[in-house]
Amino acid sequence: MKITLLGTGSPLPSATCAGPSTLVQADNQHILVDAGRSVVMRLLAAGCPPPFVSAVLLTHLHSDHISDLNDVITTRWIASPAATPLPIYGPIGTKKMVDGLLAMLSQDEGYRLAHHTDLRAAGGMKLEVHEIEASHTFAIGGVSISVHSTDHRPVAPTIGFRIEHAGTVAALAGDTIPCEGLYGMCKDADFYVQTVIREDQVRALAPLVPTGARFLDIIDYHSTVQQAAQTATKCGVKTLVLTHFVPAIQPGGEAEWHAMAAEFFTGDIIIGPDLTFVEK
Ligand SMILES: [Zn+2]
Ligand SMILES: [Zn+2]
Repeated sequence: MKITLLGTGSPLPSATCAGPSTLVQADNQHILVDAGRSVVMRLLAAGCPPPFVSAVLLTHLHSDHISDLNDVITTRWIASPAATPLPIYGPIGTKKMVDGLLAMLSQDEGYRLAHHTDLRAAGGMKLEVHEIEASHTFAIGGVSISVHSTDHRPVAPTIGFRIEHAGTVAALAGDTIPCEGLYGMCKDADFYVQTVIREDQVRALAPLVPTGARFLDIIDYHSTVQQAAQTATKCGVKTLVLTHFVPAIQPGGEAEWHAMAAEFFTGDIIIGPDLTFVEK
């Protein structure tokens, strides 16, 4: 199994970090978890053009996690030789969001259908949307996936995914604070991928920006670096992979983030730029 951090950013625009998105590859399947800003560029850089995407899994419907889903849908459709439906799995509300995206894309779809005989013959853009909840299980090829509840309130429902293949387990959490659903999902996992914020830096920056009050609001519904490390220890995971850095890590700043996590977790800790990957 190979896990690639396609985008390690957040809603805050960054010149170097794409939006939150992670690629899980196993059993010749290419599973995209969330689809943030610039995800298609990062898919290319990871050697996985959109036609190869087997399925999209969404942890929640916050804009930073879905902002380029439309690009994945359109590019996969027009670049695929055959009309293979794209499965999209997400929490309740995903159908409404995808219906809205399809409405947005309908004029473009019409132009392309009018222009390309083979796309027209294949019957247009095809998606299979599955709204899923905690305790649901499904498979993408030979990869097994179970759905777990997370806590990102007032955003609800939010979910995470325990992904298993050939004895390797990855837990992909999305935005959440520590909670029972997260603990169950991470139990003894080889890899635990967690979106994190630096509470100390958010508190330091808030007074300096005009939207400071809004910035402070984000503290109560994300895991801090330390909380992610505590969850990793509590659940006996082997490797902690941090992503969704708020604020973006300054050049050379990784060591400080690493040290904060290492205070609470003695296993491997991965903190890297976009396209950092782990493999087992
Ligand atoms: Zn987020
Ligand atoms: Zn969120």
